[in-house]
Amino acid sequence: MDTQYDVIIIGAGPAGLTAAIYASRANLKTLIIEAEVNGGKLSKTYEIENYPGIEKISGLELAEQLTRHGQKFGAKLISGKVLKIEESDPKKVFLADSTVYEAKAVIVATGTRERMLDLPEAENFTGKGISYCAVCDGFFYRNRKIAVIGGGNSALEESLYLASLAAEVTIIIRRDVFRADASVIDKVKANEKIRIITKSVPESLRIEDDRITGLMIRNVDTDEITTVECNGIFPYIGADPCTEFLDPKLLDDKGYVIAGPDMSTSVEGIYAAGDCIAKDLRQVVTACNDGALAANSIIKKLK
Ligand code: NAP
Repeated sequence: MDTQYDVIIIGAGPAGLTAAIYASRANLKTLIIEAEVNGGKLSKTYEIENYPGIEKISGLELAEQLTRHGQKFGAKLISGKVLKIEESDPKKVFLADSTVYEAKAVIVATGTRERMLDLPEAENFTGKGISYCAVCDGFFYRNRKIAVIGGGNSALEESLYLASLAAEVTIIIRRDVFRADASVIDKVKANEKIRIITKSVPESLRIEDDRITGLMIRNVDTDEITTVECNGIFPYIGADPCTEFLDPKLLDDKGYVIAGPDMSTSVEGIYAAGDCIAKDLRQVVTACNDGALAANSIIKKLK
């Protein structure tokens, strides 16, 4: 088994796959390691309409195209979970299956993972009424009632998709303003199947015959409890960086990797890119930008 590379990229989302395109086009021997789904969060996203040059594309299709493109110039893509990077020279990357790979440089592009709904019994009903992936599970709620929690881009964009299937979608937000982009908010407000409840947070699940039949919510001003009738709940309440395998000295207080303008970190030879780094704007286009910059820094250094 070939375990020696010029660059190891951890994560096959838009940042990692873009880095792979740039590194392998520069003839660097490149390995991409993905723990979950190729394409990252993109593959769970209904539609993308802010990636320049492509007016509208399904998240899954863009994920598939990027995954093909990322390997087109010779980068190798494998499945595996990274447990540790040893800060030696070359760097050693330890996988859960006990394989150890070595590379002159490593790019961490592990993205973020959704925050779970923190309610009693929520864990027991994940996959049984609670879902974190509208494109995967929305179909099961055709002509039924759905509650979406959160007011960011993910919540609103996925609500639009869910509204195309469900009888009714209720979006519950804890403030009276959304976090999402204005154009998405306009579309949500114009959708007759979507209603919005503001200043409310989830309080508990209503379960009958081992099924979710409603979500109890609490008004944050009045403490009044009401029930949203629903069969499915899709929480989109933000995400946290997948960086637990890294040395804390690389991270900020929220766990995001601190990367410079060239995507280098405080450890020589370790770079980071995409949603897992501390930054203001987390989108496909900024992830691709980071990936290209990280690869370019390594190309300059190694050549
Ligand atoms: P987000 O932007 O952080 O929004 C999270 C939402 O959940 C906010 O409305 C937040 O309320 C709410 N929330 C957080 N904790 C909560 C809790 N415990 N109970 C109830 N509500 C809670 O997360 P996101 O929508 O997943 O997006 C993550 C990043 O990806 C963002 O940078 C986003 O712009 C980006 N993204 C971009 C696109 C796109 O460009 N097309 C698509 C998807 C995501 P508050 O506002 O009150 O904090």
